[in-house]
Order: sequence, then C-alpha cells, then structure tokens
Amino acid sequence: MSEENTIFQDALGRLDEAQKYATIDEETLQRMQYPIQILQVSIPVRMDDGSLRIFKGYRVRHDDTRGPTKGGIRFHPQVDLEEVKALSLWMTCKCAVMDIPYGGAKGGVIVNPKELSPLELERLSRGFIEKMADFIGPDRDIPAPDVYTNERIMGWMMNEYSNIVRRHSPGVITGKPIALGGSQGRATATGRGAYHCIKQLEKKRGWKPANTTVAIQGFGNAGQGVAELLHHDGYRIVAVSDSQGAIYREEGFDVPSIMHAKNESRELKAVYCEGSVCESVDAQKLSNEELLELDVDILIPAAMENAITKDNAKNIKANVIVEVANGPITVEADAILGKRKDVLVVPDILANAGGVTVSYFEWVQNRCGDYWEEEHVFHRLEQTMCKQFEKVYDMMKEHEVPMRTAAYTLALNRIGAAVASTGTVRYFSGQE
Ligand code: GLU
Repeated sequence: MSEENTIFQDALGRLDEAQKYATIDEETLQRMQYPIQILQVSIPVRMDDGSLRIFKGYRVRHDDTRGPTKGGIRFHPQVDLEEVKALSLWMTCKCAVMDIPYGGAKGGVIVNPKELSPLELERLSRGFIEKMADFIGPDRDIPAPDVYTNERIMGWMMNEYSNIVRRHSPGVITGKPIALGGSQGRATATGRGAYHCIKQLEKKRGWKPANTTVAIQGFGNAGQGVAELLHHDGYRIVAVSDSQGAIYREEGFDVPSIMHAKNESRELKAVYCEGSVCESVDAQKLSNEELLELDVDILIPAAMENAITKDNAKNIKANVIVEVANGPITVEADAILGKRKDVLVVPDILANAGGVTVSYFEWVQNRCGDYWEEEHVFHRLEQTMCKQFEKVYDMMKEHEVPMRTAAYTLALNRIGAAVASTGTVRYFSGQE
C-alpha cells in the first residue's frame, strides 16, 4: 500500500531538488528535516454564553541558524501539525531568500474565528499567548499575522506578552496596529512585494498593462493589496474570488470599488462606486475552480494551500502564476506545470515575502525605538524585493531550472553558509 506524503514531506522534497544546484554541506539538509522545537497547547476559553471551549494550538520553530525564528499565526478550522511544520520550513527558506536575519516558525489554532464574538476572539488570542509565553520572545521567536488573523489580534497578543513579562515588548510580534508600534506599510506589504515581482517581469517581458489580464483567487489582505496596485498601473483585473465564489468581467473590474463593497458588506460584488454609492456592473459568476482555469496572462492564487493540484494543473492556461498564498501548487501539480516551458511560476517563498520583509523592518524599528516614514518603508521593500527577485531569476537562467528550484537553491546556499560557519564534519575531522 502506498502512503501519501504529508505536506511537510512534500516541502522537504523541494529542498532535495534544489540541493543538486546548491553549494552546501549535506548537514544543512539534515538539519532542515527536523524542526528544532514543537509546542502543542490547549487553550480553555470561556464563551459569551458561559460555556467552556478548549481550542488546540501549535507553534513550530523550524530552524534558527540564521537568527530568531519568524512566522505567522493562523486561526483556521483546518490547521494541523503537518501543515504548520511545512509552513515553518517555508518561513526558514523565505527569510533566507530575502536575506533577512531570521530562521523560520509558524503557529496555528484550530478554530473558525468567524464564529467567535470579538470578546471570545480576544480571550482566545490572549490565552494562546499565555501558553506560548516561554516559547516566543523578541530574540527567540517572533509571530505575525497569517490566514484569518489581523493587526488587532497582534495588538492583543503583544499586550498579553508584555503583561506576562512585565515590560513593554513591542518586538515580540509584528503586524501590530501602528498605534501600538506597528510599521507603516506592513498591512499592505505582502501584496506590494508580489507587485514588485510582477513589475520586474513586466520589464523583462515588455508587458503593456492595459493588454495584460489578471485573475486573483482569494480577496483577503494580500489579494486585495496586489490587485489595487496592479489596477492603479492599468492592469486588467478580470476575475477575483473569495471563499464563496468568483466574479468575472472581460473589461476588468474597478478594484477600489469592489474592495469598498467587500469591506463594507463582507461580500464580493461586481460593482462600480462613486464615493460610497455603488452600482452593479455586468459580470459573470464563476466557481473558484473555474477562475483558476481562466485564459488570463497572470494568475494569482492568494488563498490557501493546494489550490492547483494534479487534477486541475493540466487545465491551467495562464503563462505566469504568482504564488501569493503559501503552497498553493502541490508537488504533483508543479511537476505537470514544470514540463510546460511556457509557464513561469514565481514561487511563494519569493512572491509573498514582502510581508515578512516589512515585519523585519517593524522589529528593527521596535528595537531601536525610531520609527520610519511610509515612503522609507516602501523604498526599502522595493529595493529588497527587486534585488532578491533578480538573484533568483539569474539562478534560474544559470541552472535552467524552474524559478522555485532557483529560489530554494539561493535559500539553501545562505542557510548552508550559516551552518558551515558553526562547523561541519569537514571542520571537525580536520579537512578544512
Ligand atoms: N504570515 C506571513 C507569511 O507567511 C508573514 C510572516 C511574518 O511577517 O513573520 O509570510
């Protein structure tokens, strides 16, 4: 009987591929296989009706060779430990690709936050930190927002941690509200990072925005961020979706209007707004699956893992896929797409790294108590994104490999350099 790989084993498989091109000692890969620490907690929460519910949560610190571990916390009903392990490994690689001085971590709570009242959500967030307080810390492990968590939750968590350690500790968590030590530009950083990747490709491929069509699966923080910037530059955003379904319009949508409507009513509607007055515009309703298979120039999966699988990979028509979600393409789907020379996948560990990059800026600002203007944050984000995008792109050309393999190769080289500095078998057996 053949057992299916877990998502963590799949994630490790991608390192094996990259190792062929990386100049590292094999001890590096050995380390990547074992997260350094895993904590599982039970969080008792008193619900508004007086009843008690116990929520299960995890935090995985994957590797800290390059610095304190870093990564978000998600609140989602489908969270499981193998997934959190995979997400933590991706964070190790993401921070290495961006060359920011962090290792990787991730956390999650099994919960549907949409079913909780604001007070229940606050109690859960604080309860999670109470259980995690010895595990995290500004020099140890620094959480941030992820799927279905936001800046308010980060604010509660930072406050709870500060209460426990009895000192103001803004550097323990990033993605906080600006009034509580958050950074300018953090809220839109993930979308902005992906936008810079697309702009680099625009230069290479000579795209004319008005003739370039874009479909975005997932209209949360990151999906909205990249949609808004691309729309501003004249790109045609022809389809967007949320967990309920997708809307499609050949001429493209007025992105600020649908963002306004979505944020007002929580529903995705095909509208055009003048101020706060919105009118419906013609649009077709599609399923999320149909959106993924649209004949567009750029496809942006910005929702969850496993959107493109072996079942739909062959139907994908877009030539460029920009992974704004973490892990939206399965390994099997990657293999199918990889055979097609006309498809370029900008991998998650590069395409969505704008978020953690501005998280790093936030942490730097918290530590020195000196706060930057938005313009400065944007400028440094653009510099970092463009620089690392070009390094990955050059690596892809040099080895004639998919861009994902190139990104992992770059990450492994950087992690490997840190591992080698602490000494490997070659050093300890007198060979160097
Ligand atoms: N959750 C985001 C990610 O997957 C951000 C992590 C962070 O800012 O630390 O990259």
